[in-house]
Amino acid sequence: MEGKNYINGDWTTAGDGVIDVMNPATGEKFGTVPNGGEAEAKAAVDAASAAFGTWSKTTVYERASLLMKWHDLLLEHKLEVAEIMTKEMGKPLAEAIGEIEYSASFISWFAEEAKRSNGRLIPATKEGKRIQVLKQPVGVVVSITPWNFPAAMMARKMAPALAAGCTFVAKPAKLTPLTAVRMYELAEEAGFPKGVINLVTGSASKIGRVFTSHPAVRKLTFTGSTEIGKELMKQSADSMLNLSLELGGHAPIIVCEDANMDLAIEGVMASKFRNAGQTCVCGNRIYVHRTIVEEFSQRLQEATAKLKVGNGMDEGVQIGPLVDQDGYEKSARHVQDAVEKGAKVLVGGDGKAENGAYFYNPTVLINATPDMLVMNEETFGPVAPIMAFDTDEEAVRLANDTRFGLAAYFFTDSLSRGTYISENLEYGIVGWNDGAPSTAQAPFGGMKESGIGREGGQEGLEAFLETKYISIKL
Ligand code: ADP
Repeated sequence: MEGKNYINGDWTTAGDGVIDVMNPATGEKFGTVPNGGEAEAKAAVDAASAAFGTWSKTTVYERASLLMKWHDLLLEHKLEVAEIMTKEMGKPLAEAIGEIEYSASFISWFAEEAKRSNGRLIPATKEGKRIQVLKQPVGVVVSITPWNFPAAMMARKMAPALAAGCTFVAKPAKLTPLTAVRMYELAEEAGFPKGVINLVTGSASKIGRVFTSHPAVRKLTFTGSTEIGKELMKQSADSMLNLSLELGGHAPIIVCEDANMDLAIEGVMASKFRNAGQTCVCGNRIYVHRTIVEEFSQRLQEATAKLKVGNGMDEGVQIGPLVDQDGYEKSARHVQDAVEKGAKVLVGGDGKAENGAYFYNPTVLINATPDMLVMNEETFGPVAPIMAFDTDEEAVRLANDTRFGLAAYFFTDSLSRGTYISENLEYGIVGWNDGAPSTAQAPFGGMKESGIGREGGQEGLEAFLETKYISIKL
């Protein structure tokens, strides 16, 4: 597949040659995209800037109707787009189809929600004064997105931005640009006017520098690592960009003594092994009450041993390859470090890395301790370490003992215990008996070094609106 960039309504191959896109399940080349840089990023931002005046004045009903056309086209073509995704990043096809549906749900939700970007009229203290509050689009929006959800991370930025009346430039991850290219082709078919949506693939640092320094850009929305998020925040200081940052996580899972064991196993499997553990909300460390840790570990081992590993295009595969060699080595390093520090492997603990394809087997570790790498950093792989705890207070303390604060999960049937835990976890997203809380109508985002701002929900629209106060003297 030969992908192109989309700038000012034209498909272009401009750039410094091409970037190869590899299939991580086979190690073979799947396609190419242009290796864009400063000139291409600048042209895209210029186009978005030129289109902003007209687009921002269209009615929200007009914008919503275009978004709904895009939504329908995406669902009509969901199998085709999902296959591209599986081939460029490895996730099982069923999960890729699920991601396209999830992406479409953000498009339709924001198409509706933007119709309620209401302002307000506040009672004044003096006669003859009117205090008016308006919501207006923030301006040109640039987005940088990662490879683990090539469709959804872009859709949940692009849909609210466009619905709010902003124009948009996307830079998808180098590893997974082709899903974005196909989504843009469908968006073009839906009929977005020239310059309103633009796509640039290529050098992250060069494109990123233009994004953070071009005077027409007003907002940067980023999903990726905390490290790069901090870098972009520093770069954005001079232009005082409005920022939304969805950064790394290190999600704890707490399984209380009164947990419904079936629900806990189901929730942990869903949270831990989705996308082979490569999501920022994946459970990374599991704290289980000492009285049930043996039963829980055994059941998790049995469920994990049944997972089918392989090429995501093959029927029934539940765990695809890790996206690249670095990802594979990180999982292997975390397991090795844990074993050296006293953990025991119940299942997995090994993998197969040959010919550019990196499969790590789903792994369950017991006797994890707080000094292990796996209990301190995001693994981003299919490794589930289990540690026993004795009191709820201890579990919450261990869960909060990190600089991250994206997602946390716990399992209990007790209302008072669940209230205590949910209110004391320092996390932006909390799943109570629920391993899969993400949904378009709810605010998704992190506390602490997991980021700034929320995507989805009313908050996800607010992120693309400026608040203007107009004081009127009659
Ligand atoms: P991940 O490991 O999830 O890809 P990264 O933070 O490395 O996390 O990358 C997330 C996105 O940020 C990708 O699209 C990547 O190309 C981009 N990126 C990486 N480095 C930079 C940079 N210096 N400036 C701008 N974007 C960057």
